[in-house]
Amino acid sequence: MKVNRKTFDECMFPCYAPQDFVISKAKGVRVYDTQGKEYLDLTAGIAVNSLGHCPKIIEKTLKRQSRRLLHCSNIFTNDKTLQLARALQQRTGFERMFFVNSGAEANEAALKLARRYAFDSARDEKNEIISFYHGFHGRTFFTVSVGGQDKYSSGFGPRPSAITHLPYNDVAALQAAVSDKTCAIIAEPVQGEGGIIPASAEFMQALRECADKVGALLIFDEVQTGNARTGTLYAWEQYGVRPDILTTAKGLGGGLPIGAVMTSARIAAHFGPGTHGSTFGGNPLICACALEVLKKISDPEFMQGVKERAELLHQGLERIGKQSGMFAQVRGLGLLQGAVLSDSYRGQASAIMHYLAGYGVLVLTAGNDVLRFAPALNIKKSSLKRALQLLQEGLNDYRHIHQV
Ligand SMILES: *Cc1c(COP(=O)(O)O)cnc(C)c1O
Repeated sequence: MKVNRKTFDECMFPCYAPQDFVISKAKGVRVYDTQGKEYLDLTAGIAVNSLGHCPKIIEKTLKRQSRRLLHCSNIFTNDKTLQLARALQQRTGFERMFFVNSGAEANEAALKLARRYAFDSARDEKNEIISFYHGFHGRTFFTVSVGGQDKYSSGFGPRPSAITHLPYNDVAALQAAVSDKTCAIIAEPVQGEGGIIPASAEFMQALRECADKVGALLIFDEVQTGNARTGTLYAWEQYGVRPDILTTAKGLGGGLPIGAVMTSARIAAHFGPGTHGSTFGGNPLICACALEVLKKISDPEFMQGVKERAELLHQGLERIGKQSGMFAQVRGLGLLQGAVLSDSYRGQASAIMHYLAGYGVLVLTAGNDVLRFAPALNIKKSSLKRALQLLQEGLNDYRHIHQV
């Protein structure tokens, strides 16, 4: 069956506005559209394809596991779910795991758990959730209301209540806002969708202290920063601030949908039988693959490679920024980098992203003013250099056409 970009408009909900080409295959960091045009991918499916497109290990694991067990529901448990849980436990120190299919579901579960934990301690009105402007936690109605962009949750009727939004990286505002009513504080160690804004060390410390002071649970949303993306298995390790609940998703499945919630046995105990659940969560096919991804990305040698690539990417972007004058700042952690557009190019992130695809390089945006880069964690250094070259060429031409 022949399809093209027009088919999208004819068949799909219009809640996305995808680029003009239709992708049909990919390998490593090379992506091909239906016309056969090749692109170098610095997006990794939004920080999802941690080992690049169609890695051998996933192909092999899918094949093996699809002959053994695809799905059995959580009425039963299965060996692959348990093996993944054990591996995460050993590598993170968190004692209990809950598996879901996406980042939003992981955060939904974490927020419900925090509310239930406070509810069980029988302190009236301890239900306030503190979150941050420009934070992003998913698109279910609860998570999108907790997220820090009003426009994403408005226009759908009454929102879940008792959610307070504060400015990110503002220690004083945080200290002033927490109270005995606060049951949870949720934050991303680096705000991803919000513009690649890393938390300051003081802010991370204050999150821990404020949560402890009022008996609130600290939730780190590491859906995007997790799974070696930032140069440690989870970003909190670099700050030395351990959350009570950690959520992740995106890169954990290496291209397959999985999310996880991790916490202590004491906190997990508040989700007794019947309190929460998921049909597909812990699906053995996906867990088998995630286990292989986890083994690879938690290897110290692999992590060293991530750091080296991160350095290359950051330096390359700095250099391009200096040469072109198009970036006001390059910021981020590890292989999650953002190039903040300089004033003359404000609001043009999306236009630039589309333009660059014409040069055969795929990048992301994070808001209207930031180009976001999140390549595969194992991208060949030569491919990364080539992609940076294409980026520079594309940006220079863009600059000349859109002379300001
Ligand atoms: C992408 C993202 C989510 C949502 O994940 P989905 O899998 O799209 O539901 C939540 N939090 C953060 C920090 C994210 O980057």
